[in-house]
Amino acid sequence: METNTAKLLDGKALATKIQQELSATITRLQPHIGRPPGLAVLMVGDNPASAAYVRGKERACTKIGMASFGKHFPTQTTQAELEEVIHHLNQDERVDGILVQLPLPNHLDAISLLHQIDPGKDADGLHPVNLGKLLRSEPGLRSCTPAGVMRLLQEYEISLRSKQAVVVGRSILVGKPLALMLLQADATVTIAHSRSHNLPAITKNADILIAAVGRPELITAQMVKPGAVVVDVGINRVTDDNGNSRLVGDVQFESVANVAEFLTPVPGGVGPMTVAMLLQNTVDSYSQRLKTKE
Ligand code: NDP
Repeated sequence: METNTAKLLDGKALATKIQQELSATITRLQPHIGRPPGLAVLMVGDNPASAAYVRGKERACTKIGMASFGKHFPTQTTQAELEEVIHHLNQDERVDGILVQLPLPNHLDAISLLHQIDPGKDADGLHPVNLGKLLRSEPGLRSCTPAGVMRLLQEYEISLRSKQAVVVGRSILVGKPLALMLLQADATVTIAHSRSHNLPAITKNADILIAAVGRPELITAQMVKPGAVVVDVGINRVTDDNGNSRLVGDVQFESVANVAEFLTPVPGGVGPMTVAMLLQNTVDSYSQRLKTKE
């Protein structure tokens, strides 16, 4: 699909390519390691959006030949019960990646649970040890959504060095780690957030504009520099006047497509890349097992 001017950054196609590569890596490594890689996705409660994401992750897992150790827990599961499960998975030799699907029910402390995961099995790259490695530009497991954005930019040979990059959103899940990755790639990085004054003036400066906000179509064409690269991380469900619901990003796709040089679609942009990077992290941890055997 080509738009008026912007070229699409096709995350869906790239994610498929990465999955094929990972599948080949697994086929190559499995005889040496003696088992397939394993990923455990832990979900608590019955949030329908989370359930859909978890199903997608488990399907992708199976598709590339990875064993899935997913566990779904009832809403009333306690912190202690989940900690116990994580400790077992940390010890389980068949498991290379563990992730806790967020958000969790209110009575659970997500941060404390993330801290319990073995940093070497931290498939979501959210453990403080891995976030610290990112801060220090050391190798380590990286947060999946920001890593997916970086991989997408790399695939389309979008140069970042000396470019003005603006990240709108400063969450620990997306905005902050992505800003650090862009900085590591030698971009000049600005982070904007809900307290930033005059957001359009900030975004209009961006050669690379990343929206990770969670506000449907916040970024309009007037806020985008002509020729910019625009990456839309947002996933928002909106309902129109006729009661039909659809997914939109944080970027007003139709108008921005007339101004930007590159643009990600929603869906089909960053979302599939997040899943691909989760699988990549798990296969990377799996490959480490071979290195430790040698
Ligand atoms: P959070 O709610 O944790 O963070 C949102 C950030 O946006 C905050 O830093 C907030 O600022 C900032 N913000 C809110 N309103 C404005 C505004 N009007 N102007 C400027 N900044 C604003 O969200 P996440 O980072 O977790 O997620 C962001 C979006 O990305 C969501 O739509 C989410 O669904 C999507 N997402 C998509 C993924 C994918 O795979 N594609 C994966 C993860 C998330 P402040 O800090 O001041 O409150």
